[in-house]
Amino acid sequence: MRFETRSVHVGVDKDSAYLSATTPIYPSSTFRWDDLETNRGFDYTRSGNPTRAALEENIASLEGGTQCRATCTGMAAITAAVHLFKAGDHVVAGHDIYGGTYRLFADVFPQLGIDFTFVNQQNLDDVRAAIRPNTKGLWIETPSNPLLNCVEIAALTEIARGSNLTSIADNTFLSPCLQRPMEHGVDVVVHSTTKYLNGHSDVVGGCVVTKDEERGERIAYVVNALGLGCSPFDAWLVLRGIKTLGPRMEAHQRAAAAVANFLWEHPAVEHVYYPGLPTHPHHELAKKQQDGFGGMLSFDVKGGRAEAEKVLTGTKLFQLAESLGGVESLLEYPETMSHASMTLEARREAGITEKTIRLSCGIEHPDDLVEDLKQALEA
Ligand SMILES: *Cc1c(COP(=O)(O)O)cnc(C)c1O
Repeated sequence: MRFETRSVHVGVDKDSAYLSATTPIYPSSTFRWDDLETNRGFDYTRSGNPTRAALEENIASLEGGTQCRATCTGMAAITAAVHLFKAGDHVVAGHDIYGGTYRLFADVFPQLGIDFTFVNQQNLDDVRAAIRPNTKGLWIETPSNPLLNCVEIAALTEIARGSNLTSIADNTFLSPCLQRPMEHGVDVVVHSTTKYLNGHSDVVGGCVVTKDEERGERIAYVVNALGLGCSPFDAWLVLRGIKTLGPRMEAHQRAAAAVANFLWEHPAVEHVYYPGLPTHPHHELAKKQQDGFGGMLSFDVKGGRAEAEKVLTGTKLFQLAESLGGVESLLEYPETMSHASMTLEARREAGITEKTIRLSCGIEHPDDLVEDLKQALEA
């Protein structure tokens, strides 16, 4: 089955009693045993739940993995994935990763003895140079947030294999519809399903996808032990959202392309960061490694914070809010919002300035989105 068909069908059929067309929600915290040795595959919802299992089967198929665990947030998924490592281990990560991931890696896991080095992964020599005898992992996020830098996944996983590192990719920004890191050698994929997979801004969730038995079992163990699994209701919503992932991603990127082209030509705009623009430094790489350019883009206004603020508070359709990947368009200010948890120094090092605005283009008509930005820029 092809991607869109799998989105609609894989894992969904869980009702042998009434043959319902959609997966039932099983809110039960516990499940009866037939006898002292036998249950029907589920005993307690922290450990497993039929509705959550339906979602996990679905996402594993879309990412090209064999196992998936659905978690209560994206950060919970990342927490579970980092538990593939232990105290004394070291992980090399990109320098312009999601702000919350940066906080976890810079502040929380080091206190538990797992250390991270942040490097510009476009420079493969810097990646190689950061690898130490105790390095066990390579953390990849592409395109990056918020500047949409792309790194070559296949080149990075080749380095990882050469040094026996577990490679983990955060695939939130493109979703498996537009990029499947496992096809480029990645061992583990994580998502914030809050974003494109659910797609309707009404759930926070995450998932960890694996392809080898050993890591899959470890992630399942950790998610159960730490209690990171998502609720049956949330699993049901994400599964419902995923059914339209293909058509939604097409609409998101149609809107983003129109907005990027408009902004590129606008005299009040200094720079546009969108891999779909031929002027983007990683346009060719994105074309090769991705099946599309996605719905996210950022731009720098001419001027400074005041000029950025005018746009950020002047739009009528684009809502001033964090998060991304929902059907409604959002815009936000990395400096004080999504990336406030990075130090000023780290933001500047990553290229985030006072003029940078991030857009999540929804599935509204592209012309309405362009008109909205035009009036905000020209007000
Ligand atoms: C939002 C996001 C996360 C964190 O997910 P939550 O669901 O908010 O916990 C991680 N990585 C990326 C790239 C994100 O956009």
